[in-house]
Amino acid sequence: MEMWFTEKQTENVGITCKTEKTLYMETTQYQEIALIQTLQFGRMLVLDGTVQTTENDEFIYHEMITHVPLFTHPFPKNILVVGGGDGGAVREIVKHPSVQKVTLVEIDGKVIEVSKNFLPTISCALENPKVEVLVEDGIQYVKKHKNKFDVILIDSTDPIGAAVGLFSKEFYKAIYESLKEDGLFVAQTESPFFNKELISKVYQDIKIIFPITKLYLCAIPTYPSGFWSFTMGSKKYDPLKIDENKIINIDTKYYTREIHKSAFSLPKFVKDLLK
Ligand code: SAM
Repeated sequence: MEMWFTEKQTENVGITCKTEKTLYMETTQYQEIALIQTLQFGRMLVLDGTVQTTENDEFIYHEMITHVPLFTHPFPKNILVVGGGDGGAVREIVKHPSVQKVTLVEIDGKVIEVSKNFLPTISCALENPKVEVLVEDGIQYVKKHKNKFDVILIDSTDPIGAAVGLFSKEFYKAIYESLKEDGLFVAQTESPFFNKELISKVYQDIKIIFPITKLYLCAIPTYPSGFWSFTMGSKKYDPLKIDENKIINIDTKYYTREIHKSAFSLPKFVKDLLK
């Protein structure tokens, strides 16, 4: 008998994948965690029924949430990741030679454990000596640490449960304070097709706080609508004014020098969301 997994992405649309088996399932204090073996995408991490990452397309999200900000900052040394317990963002960050320390603050320790056990190609840098892994609420952590980080990444789930506060104006103010005087941050900000209001609100909230605010896009097959946005708030450095020659060669499959800037070229309907 064939087995299929469906994520209901909105009231009217979903994504369906043929599966071999469910490798792991547990409900923690924060969410239901499932690890599913699919035919098309390899192993898939699902939280509360929502696809987080898959072995075959994770590189797009993880390269774009990391290399765009890290190559915008001229010398990123101290990096904070909020969420991101699968470790994919951390794996990309440690490819940057200037990085001295990465702090990962994930609220659900089980996500880290399951990723280490079932997703070794994604979680492989979590044991890197430059990486400190903390299991706590990223909102409280950011509030407690001022003037500390060069780059902060918000690698969160959708704005439900513990992640709601990660999309608030108060949190963006706390991020501003937690960054050094020339720091910058990027948050994953959902689908331009299905989350228009959220994208508009987040952009305006960040724009009030940060002198440079920019949204960029990429294509991710397993995320709702296949089309994904990230929003950057920066105190000093503009991602479009960097010297492309300073983008060193690192091992990537999606991110390139050309994509660094072209990802900020927005379709008209997305530009309209930012007015
Ligand atoms: N890259 C994937 C994506 O965009 O869907 C997944 C990112 S990662 C799995 C998201 C993580 O954020 C989850 O493991 C979740 O536990 C964590 N998270 C949610 N709220 C959080 C909070 N307040 N503080 C720290 N981590 C949080």
